[in-house]
Amino acid sequence: MTTQATSPTVGAAAARRREQAVRAAVEQGLAGPDAPIVALLDTTGIRASAAALRAAFAAVTDAPVLHAFAVKACPLVPVLRLLRAEGLGAEVASPGELALAGAAGIGPADTVLDSPAKTPAELREALDLGIAVNADNPQELARLDALVEASPSASPIGLRVNPQLGAGSIDALSTATATSKFGVALLDDGAREWVVRAYAERPWLTRLHTHSGSQGVALPLMAQGVRVAYELAEEINAAVGRRQVDTLDIGGGLPVNFGSDEETPTYAAYARLLKEEVPGLFDGRYGLVTEFGRSLLAKHGTVLARVEYAKSSGGRPIAVTHAGVQIAARTVYAPASWPLRIEAYDAKGRPKKGPAVAQDIAGPACFAGDLLAENRPLPLLEQGDYTAVLDTGAYYFAHHYSYNSLARPGIYGFTDPPEGVRFAPVRTPQPIEDLIAEAGGAHADALL
Ligand SMILES: *Cc1c(COP(=O)(O)O)cnc(C)c1O
Repeated sequence: MTTQATSPTVGAAAARRREQAVRAAVEQGLAGPDAPIVALLDTTGIRASAAALRAAFAAVTDAPVLHAFAVKACPLVPVLRLLRAEGLGAEVASPGELALAGAAGIGPADTVLDSPAKTPAELREALDLGIAVNADNPQELARLDALVEASPSASPIGLRVNPQLGAGSIDALSTATATSKFGVALLDDGAREWVVRAYAERPWLTRLHTHSGSQGVALPLMAQGVRVAYELAEEINAAVGRRQVDTLDIGGGLPVNFGSDEETPTYAAYARLLKEEVPGLFDGRYGLVTEFGRSLLAKHGTVLARVEYAKSSGGRPIAVTHAGVQIAARTVYAPASWPLRIEAYDAKGRPKKGPAVAQDIAGPACFAGDLLAENRPLPLLEQGDYTAVLDTGAYYFAHHYSYNSLARPGIYGFTDPPEGVRFAPVRTPQPIEDLIAEAGGAHADALL
């Protein structure tokens, strides 16, 4: 296995930047009694991850590679714009995500549309714009037949296949099981023959897509999925007698280390493993698309939450904070699969000292299970202290869950020039008027 750690200094430097940002957020008033929860994004870290991704593939191939960031992992326009500046595109899976990519200035040539439930109108829009589309199933391919016949499009079009290799350690995130809802299940009776025929009948079908990794999926299983797609492309091209499939979209899904500051596994390790397992993928005959999400953003996000009350119940200390299910739905509902690291800071934003005491870190929502951690050993938190919830840059604070009508927190990007930490608003805190509008405030009399 080639999952070497990055040099420890990468993680140590990220931890140092985070610590400085927490201190600065408290000192500059971004977090405080009137802003008891705030989310922070490490701009330097995001740039470094994007650069590491590009470098990892550039080191193993000269083929053109589009790294399309999976927008669902962090659907924030300034983040997409930052990634665009770092040379990345966008993988979108809904009209909303497509609009966000557009708002960030990501062009059609750098955008890929996947999603298991595209409507005819969405498909038409994508083809009008010339955005790459990956069809999920035979019915969608039939819709594309009609659209392509009606008017030719510049869109590269592919088909998503499911190699049915098995699950990772988290069922809800395992896309390559025998019964996964995604793509054409390649091992089902007659499916492979159907796919080869589908390409033979459609000269415009030039891409092949698979996305078999995710949190909890080991690298070798991901690489096997890519090999299955590569071998299928070779079979299709041999059957049609030309290089019809010219681009392989290998999906995303690099798992993230939620246990420490080290960024493992690395993109470089994954790219090297792919080169070992599927050498033909990189020999220049195929263009490549990747769709990484979580691994680009997760470790660069921190939620800072004020301890509103510190209490004790049945002998157990409990810190009641402002970060709970609204910013960490997965952790609250499936804590065994999604443990998060939590750091303790004092009221001035300095790392809290003191012996570790097992305590519950609770959120603000009105149900008993709204806990980010149970019995977590940390310096004993007191009223007015802060918790920092780490590794929350992907699928956490950008995925607000509206329980108890809790407002979306403000999100700020930070940089650390020599003169001190600077913050830029990525998203301002949600005003209460917005919550009323979202809750049908304009139709207050509708049910009378
Ligand atoms: C979610 C998703 C991704 C990104 O997955 P990560 O685990 O965030 O890297 C890529 N491609 C498709 C089709 C997806 O659904």
